[in-house]
Amino acid sequence: MTAETKRDYYEVLGIGRDASMGDIKAAYRRMAVKHHPDKNPGDSTAEAYFKEASEAYAVLSDAEKRSRYDRFGHQGLGGEGFTGFDPGAFGDFADILGDLFGFGDLFGTRRRSTGQGMRRGHDLQYTLKLSLEEAATGVERSIRIPRLETCKACSGSGSKPGTSPETCSTCRGSGQVAFRRGFLSVAQTCPSCGGAGQMNRNPCEDCGGKGRSERQTTLMVTVPAGVDTGMRLRLAGEGEDGALGGPAGDLFVVMKVEAHDLFERDGRDLHLELPISVFQAMLGANVPVTTILGEDRVVEVAAGAQPGEVIRLHGAGMPHVDGRRRGDLFVHFRVVVPRKISGEQRRLIEEVASLGGGLEPESEQGFFERLKRAFSGGE
Ligand SMILES: [Zn+2]
Ligand SMILES: [Zn+2]
Repeated sequence: MTAETKRDYYEVLGIGRDASMGDIKAAYRRMAVKHHPDKNPGDSTAEAYFKEASEAYAVLSDAEKRSRYDRFGHQGLGGEGFTGFDPGAFGDFADILGDLFGFGDLFGTRRRSTGQGMRRGHDLQYTLKLSLEEAATGVERSIRIPRLETCKACSGSGSKPGTSPETCSTCRGSGQVAFRRGFLSVAQTCPSCGGAGQMNRNPCEDCGGKGRSERQTTLMVTVPAGVDTGMRLRLAGEGEDGALGGPAGDLFVVMKVEAHDLFERDGRDLHLELPISVFQAMLGANVPVTTILGEDRVVEVAAGAQPGEVIRLHGAGMPHVDGRRRGDLFVHFRVVVPRKISGEQRRLIEEVASLGGGLEPESEQGFFERLKRAFSGGE
């Protein structure tokens, strides 16, 4: 499709130009489910609609690309709108549609193939360790993975450029040879070609004739805010390249969020132990705290606060990975009693204590009474 004949992306998804991110996702999901080629086998019109919608989504779901498209139209994207598909967007697609559909082979990152010897590349898994802060803000990380990639020198054929494998003369291409054992004829894997049926007389020097070689690849992974341990991002087609032109496998990036030394996570909510002095607990205080996203909040400690008392700061917890409401921050008071006080402090506190009240509140007198009764043999 050239820029001139392309339909307007908003028209493709049937939404207005002021559509929210949620509208865009919902519209794309609708279109994708309706036109997905797996539901319309052999229907090239449906497949075209599906690709068109996917392309529109890839652009409109990316704030930067969307604003360029809004200003300059298709030309503004300079052809990058959909060439090859970027893996970051793919993770997002897999996220939206889940594993409902066999996704990758629609976009040319995998070749559909039934050819002899073609094998799909293996899926790969990468565990990405994140701090709780990174999980809260979302992060772009480059990861290095070793993977088998199609040899560039021979384009995966395994033969020197300009040559091609010859049919094995021992087995005449069948990959098997028959041996005679007495009256029996036994088929065995051809010892000359190892069962491939072909002899590679001019193996590619770069890959030693294998067609693939192991390479360290650096990929950028966009981790959305709010991820938790065990969540996976799927980067379709970023696994191992297939053998002899087979489709590539997928790369699964599995999140591992490390424990934080102050915040304890419970799904979307966070818990924080806040030390307050015994004086702050008695008199009340406004104590500043910093959220996991670095925002300043104030905890209002009421006069007479007790150890273990909990204050809930709404919306100060972890962001939700779907962009829904943030979790809460539960602040647990730990009342700290000073281990050392000055002589002057001691004198004043003794004076305060002598005024009475509060040292043995009624309920606690009840407690001591009950305890005495328990030791003296019960009620
Ligand atoms: Zn090669
Ligand atoms: Zn052979």
